[in-house]
Amino acid sequence: MELAEKQARLEQIADSIKNRNIDIGIAKTCTNPVPGVGNPDAKIVFIGEAPGAQEDKMGEPFVGASGKFLDEMLQSIGLKRADVFITNIVKFRPPDNRDPKPEEIKACLPSLLEQLEVIQPKLVVFLGRHAMGVFFPELKISEAHGKPQKRTVKTNGQARLEAVFLPLYHPAAALYNGSMRQTLLDDFAQIPKILELIK
Ligand code: URA
Repeated sequence: MELAEKQARLEQIADSIKNRNIDIGIAKTCTNPVPGVGNPDAKIVFIGEAPGAQEDKMGEPFVGASGKFLDEMLQSIGLKRADVFITNIVKFRPPDNRDPKPEEIKACLPSLLEQLEVIQPKLVVFLGRHAMGVFFPELKISEAHGKPQKRTVKTNGQARLEAVFLPLYHPAAALYNGSMRQTLLDDFAQIPKILELIK
């Protein structure tokens, strides 16, 4: 797919999310839906959990404290936000930062799969166990973090995405735990090596 078509299709998906066309309570109670941002041709897609207070205010993913750490990690491997695509499994803020409910994840999943189908990334990075659990419920984050896995997942209908999937701990975990911060930085440092291998 050409870049212009990818861009147009991602805008359509984002518009549908911004128009709150998903029938769940949090689509109505949030301040701003958060569809995701970045390069339509990105080699890497980062998938977080759900927008927090800052994201809800700005309509952009990872712009709060976790986002600052994500930016720092991206910088540590020579990447900028504009090089990658960043989104969440749930596109609307759950009140009081509670975990997303299974029905909220289910309702938002088609939009996420469509985003992946359009972008066709080579590497999908899960930021935290919720994102990982949507695709690979059998994995445990304590065992799977930092271990790239080549898999094929069904997107919509007949469509498939073959990519490498890398589970990481959620950046928020590092805000309260210094050793987690180093683990995340170490796991993140694998990204350039993985990209080199799958080029
Ligand atoms: N945490 C997430 O999982 N996603 C965001 O967009 C912000 C914080």
